[in-house]
Order: sequence, then C-alpha cells, then structure tokens
Amino acid sequence: MSAGAGTLHVVSTPIGHLGDLSPRAVEVLQHVTAILAEDTRHTRILCDRFAIRTPLLAYHEHNEASRVPGLVARLVAGESFALVSDAGTPLLSDPGDRLVRAAIAAGVTVSPVPGPSALLAALVVSGLPAERFTFLGFLARKGRERSEAIETIVAAPHTVVLYEAPARVAETLRALEAAGAGARPAVLARELTKQFETIVRGTVREVAAAAEAEPPRGEVVLVIGAGAPEALDPSDLERQAAAWRAEGQAPREVMRRLMEERGAPRNLAYRIAHA
Ligand code: SAM
Repeated sequence: MSAGAGTLHVVSTPIGHLGDLSPRAVEVLQHVTAILAEDTRHTRILCDRFAIRTPLLAYHEHNEASRVPGLVARLVAGESFALVSDAGTPLLSDPGDRLVRAAIAAGVTVSPVPGPSALLAALVVSGLPAERFTFLGFLARKGRERSEAIETIVAAPHTVVLYEAPARVAETLRALEAAGAGARPAVLARELTKQFETIVRGTVREVAAAAEAEPPRGEVVLVIGAGAPEALDPSDLERQAAAWRAEGQAPREVMRRLMEERGAPRNLAYRIAHA
C-alpha cells in the first residue's frame, strides 16, 4: 500500500427511493475531496437532498480512459474520492472497473460503502433460488453475442438475472421461449423502491405475454429460473461426462462440472462421473 495515499471509496446510491442512501454513504460523500459521478447533474440532486457540498467530477464511459491516470496520481498523492453511478452500485453495468483496477495497481486502498443495487433487489424478491445465480447485465442487442447469451441462460443450472430496457423485455422473453425455455419461471421486477414498483411472476411465456399486453414502463430487471432438475437427461449427461473424461479430466472435476454447469444433483453427478 502506498504510504500517505488516499482512499477510493466505491459508494452505492439509491436505485429509486432516496431514503436508501446510508448514513455512512452520506458521511463519506461529505468528506472526500471530490465525488466521481457518471452524470454530475443527476448526482447533484442527491447531494442537494443530503446537504453534501463536495465538488463533483464527471467520470463516465466516454472519459474514463483519459481520466484514470490523473485520478490515480491524485489518490497516490493523498486525495480521497468517492465513485458513484447514477443508480445503485458502480461497476454493475456501470463505469468504474478501470479506475478500481488502476487504483489497486498503484497500491491505493479501495473501500466499499455497500448499498442498493437493482440486481440484488430484484433477486431477493423474485422468489427464485438466490443461493447461486448468474448476472449477465444487459444482453447484446443482436448477433452472435446475443444468441450465445440466450443459450447461456437456457443452459444455466441456476437463476439468471438480467438488466433489460423496458421496450425489449417481451422480445428477450420470446427469444428465450424460442430457445426452449418458455416453461421456466420468470420474474419481471419493475421500478423497484419507486412509486410504481411492480413484480410480475409467471413462466417465461406468461411474462412475455403480460409484457406484450402492457409494455412495462420505467426500469426493469428480469430474473429467470433454472430449468427443472427433472428435465435433465441422464444419457445426455453421460455423453458429456465421457467427452470430458476423454479430454483427460479427472472424475472429481467431471463431477464438479456436471453439478455446476449442467445442474446435476450430487448423487447423479457422482455416479455418472465415476462410471
Ligand atoms: N449499477 C446499477 C445497479 O447497481 O443496479 C445498475 C445500472 S444499469 C446502467 C441500469 C439498469 O439497472 C436499468 O436499465 C434496469 O435494468 C436496472 N435498474 C436500475 N434501477 C432500477 C429500479 N429501480 N428498478 C428496476 N430496475 C432497475
């Protein structure tokens, strides 16, 4: 750690309800040299509400590459900054990873002020298993990257969380249905913590129909449940295990992959991996 260096605080801010800004977040925002904000006008409203007079500096996807060296030099020289995004937690489908990595490389302390994120807020009210999940952020809008992401969701042995533009929700759910996931559980979490908070639960097919009948407005998270375990085809798993063993993977590794990548229960994974 660089002696005398400042701290880069990564601070979560509300995803809607301003009451969700934590007292510690207010304190940190009040005491740093500057707040690095995605949109300074947006963050100014938050700061005004909490009487935070700290200067704001723009740090967003269009200037982060050019900003990082200067910011890191100032951190090393002893200044402290708070990184915030327009909503929720920085770095989650928001800028910040370049700065965090550069600060770490320079020996600067990076410290979180945890708090809201739409990802976790949606997951915990979805009613779907939250013990293991995959977060895919925003799906690519077209092309191979999109079709690969759809395949990843269909193959996921656990819950998947996505950010989606409201106008694209129905299309994404229909793409999942077309790929064979129409009967999977789906939850549309809209305007969380805000006046029109709405949670729609059903199957992928049902939630797609609901989104077509009444296109959601505002901000939306989609949570997609894993395929039902009984849908597992043991002979398909056996073929997969044979292929991994032929590549030289140990039974233990094959068992782990069957459980993690294919959602096989432990006893079935053990039996197939050691066959
Ligand atoms: N960093 C943020 C976080 O921690 O949640 C997310 C930023 S991302 C650019 C914005 C997306 O987050 C929106 O398009 C939407 O998918 C989701 N989102 C943000 N606020 C939300 C809310 N109040 N309700 C539902 N989804 C929300």
